Amino acid sequence: APIVAVVGRPNVGKSTLVNRIIGRRQAVVEDIPGVTRDRVPYDAQWSGRRFTVVDTGGWEPDAKDRAAAIANQAEIAVGTADVVLFVVDATVGSTDVDEAAVKMLRRSAKPVLLVANKADNANIELEATSLWSLGLGEPMPVSALHGRGSGDLLDAILEALPDAPRIVETGPRGPRRVALVGRPNVGKSSLLNRLAREERSVVDSVAGTTVDPVDSLVQIGGETWQLVDTAGLRKRVGKASGTEYYASLRTAAAIEAAEVAVVLLDASEVISEQDQRILSMVIEAGRATVIAFNKWDLVDADRRHYLNKEIERELKRIPWALRVNISAMTGRAVEKLAPALRTALASWEKRIPTGQLNQWLTALVQATPHPVRGGRAPKILFATQAGVAPPRFVLFTTAPLDAGYQRFIERKLREEFGYEGSPIDINVRPRK
Ligand code: GDP
Repeated sequence: APIVAVVGRPNVGKSTLVNRIIGRRQAVVEDIPGVTRDRVPYDAQWSGRRFTVVDTGGWEPDAKDRAAAIANQAEIAVGTADVVLFVVDATVGSTDVDEAAVKMLRRSAKPVLLVANKADNANIELEATSLWSLGLGEPMPVSALHGRGSGDLLDAILEALPDAPRIVETGPRGPRRVALVGRPNVGKSSLLNRLAREERSVVDSVAGTTVDPVDSLVQIGGETWQLVDTAGLRKRVGKASGTEYYASLRTAAAIEAAEVAVVLLDASEVISEQDQRILSMVIEAGRATVIAFNKWDLVDADRRHYLNKEIERELKRIPWALRVNISAMTGRAVEKLAPALRTALASWEKRIPTGQLNQWLTALVQATPHPVRGGRAPKILFATQAGVAPPRFVLFTTAPLDAGYQRFIERKLREEFGYEGSPIDINVRPRK
């Protein structure tokens, strides 16, 4: 979600304004101990747009070097925000501290909205016009306390935000899109044939669906799924498989069109380089992932023993991928694909509220800090989930993180919040 930073002198009403924006009556200033103390992020939503509000409360009026304290605030605003709300006290007008801050803020390319707070009545609004001299454009008179002008402010924030998708209320939606991928002869066509035996009736039962002629609608576990780009598979049954190049184009197209991929592996054979390439395609495309070991009917105790070792070795990089053991031939456990697909999709679309995420991260960093490097350790200022499908996180830091520490965070994030069956992406943005 885009980030809106709230900056301003103490007592101009920043916290009250943040409360107003996030629509809570209680004071938000509950203190999260540690690194996020002076940059507490909150989730906000207005007219179907989500954004994160960061209350930069740590303005230090008594700092020895006042200008440095202000510069620091401005720097953080520049480094992390998409929009800056610069809050001044309309009853006071602009002060020299405000003017110093404005100089810093103006150097940034970020849009700045000038909020003249405590404009509780029309009289004060006249005072606010004196704030034009700050050179930040028209001051927006707002009473964070009583709500006056806050709707206009929220509209202005949305105007200034970078383009982002609107939240669409997802009512009952169509079938989820699944790619059935795997190297030649793993049993894709066989599985499709088993699943699609009653496709006619499935299509009839999903009222009003238009299915792409290259897709197949199938029922697994009492639910309808759309297997994408299966036309090639159907024609191909019993015929030559075409060139590897062509096959990999088809695989890429299917993955692209899908939300979740079922990667078929042949349980009776060793996991090959080609299998690995297909797995990489799915993960790099950021799709939810279910691994189906097919031909399980051929797996005896001996093979099982070796397969377990292979899995440990070959699938080490994706311990989170869900696994199902099936037989397209006998139909064994094929219906188990359904709960795996559902779990993977739920992980893929999971959203962690910003407050919860930061509370967890603060505790984690306190318990296991980043190793010290050249006398100091990079600090994590705060984290936010930037998107879903797959979950994407942004960590704002004072310096780049060690690769090992970043992996540690991902592992702990998975331990805490799940994400079985979904890749997740962590993007570290060091402050310049
Ligand atoms: P595709 O190239 O991935 O579409 O693979 P096919 O579906 O054409 O299957 C390749 C071969 O594996 C065929 O001879 C199938 O009969 C066989 N096969 C597919 N699934 C199974 C299974 O679960 N068990 C066994 N024993 N053979 C299977």
